[in-house]
Amino acid sequence: MSDSHDFSTRAIHVGQEFDPSTGSVIPPIYQTSTFVQDGIGGFRGGYEYARSANPTRSSLETLLADLEGGAHGFSFASGLAAEDTLLRAVLKPGDHIVMGNDVYGGTHRLIDRTFTSWGIELDTVEMMNLDAVRAAVTPKTRVLWVETPSNPLMKISDIAALVEIGHAAGAIVVVDNTFASPYLQNPLAFGADAVSHSTTKYLGGHSDVLGGGLVIADDELAEKVRFLQFAVGAVSGPMDAWLTVRGIKTLALRMEKHSSNAQAIAETLVAHPAVERVYYPGLADHPGHDLAARQMRGFGGMLSLQLAGGPAAARTFAESTSLFQLAESLGGVESLIGYPTEMTHASVRGTALAVPENLVRLSVGIEGVDDLTADLLEGLARL
Ligand SMILES: *Cc1c(COP(=O)(O)O)cnc(C)c1O
Repeated sequence: MSDSHDFSTRAIHVGQEFDPSTGSVIPPIYQTSTFVQDGIGGFRGGYEYARSANPTRSSLETLLADLEGGAHGFSFASGLAAEDTLLRAVLKPGDHIVMGNDVYGGTHRLIDRTFTSWGIELDTVEMMNLDAVRAAVTPKTRVLWVETPSNPLMKISDIAALVEIGHAAGAIVVVDNTFASPYLQNPLAFGADAVSHSTTKYLGGHSDVLGGGLVIADDELAEKVRFLQFAVGAVSGPMDAWLTVRGIKTLALRMEKHSSNAQAIAETLVAHPAVERVYYPGLADHPGHDLAARQMRGFGGMLSLQLAGGPAAARTFAESTSLFQLAESLGGVESLIGYPTEMTHASVRGTALAVPENLVRLSVGIEGVDDLTADLLEGLARL
């Protein structure tokens, strides 16, 4: 499969060749922990033991690397396991990490409550403000951690500009590309060193599997990650890897529909008197709209809104829709609604990363847009 093929074609075929022994169009799920050796050290296809590699996981890793345009793909048991492995591969005691002040709460928690006990220093900064980022990096900064669009305020950060700042300081730049998915954004193309994904979200796409991915351009960094992936072992199992590959086949179609549904819903909500503010990069007055239009190939399916009625209205609204189901997570075919203060962002409550208490987050699914809009309007009518 060559690079000249369309994204949709690659999503369906890369790493997914039919099984040569039976002709099975879909490669089998290699539900095995170990592999017979033809004499000691005689590995077939390099497979020895499933913590180091398993063909079903290899299929997903090849596919992730291709879709992000990087040389090396890695698949993990969760998004946070992927992040943990990458950070451990790069950081040592005394090092410093600079992270956006609007990242996934679990990412902040991982570093703030785990890595700092091992002598890593963390500073959070407004990533849209390049001067603030320049001021935050120090000679000890090894990692600049960027999430764009961010969670839950949909802030858009300039990847190319941040790469320049990070590299000048001797840091690697990591982009959490979970919200955009590789269909809408490829951070490596802007010079980022690594892309991190919670494949639990858009890549899996059906809210039926947990997983994480890394894609890395540089061979040396990839070798360190490969070693830790093997040495620590937070890998995805064959069934999870297979479900994720299966989900990715329809990523392009899904992202188109997520984006068009979210755009229509954002435009409806903006005009509603119960809504104080809508955060969606596809709205012309969103602070990151122009940058998103340059950096992304669409605006995605995530949006947040602040309710004019304050925290009580936000809580009531989050509990009164029916198609939009109240649940953590995002990126599945079905629409979800969440109250970040007490759900996804409960771990940063009371810190500088706290989110507005009248904020509700929507993961707009791919159901019929009229049904989704009616569901939201009914919920708002109850306030
Ligand atoms: C969910 C999420 C993660 C963590 O991934 P898990 O698969 O839940 O471990 C990281 N970053 C973002 C942006 C997420 O939405």
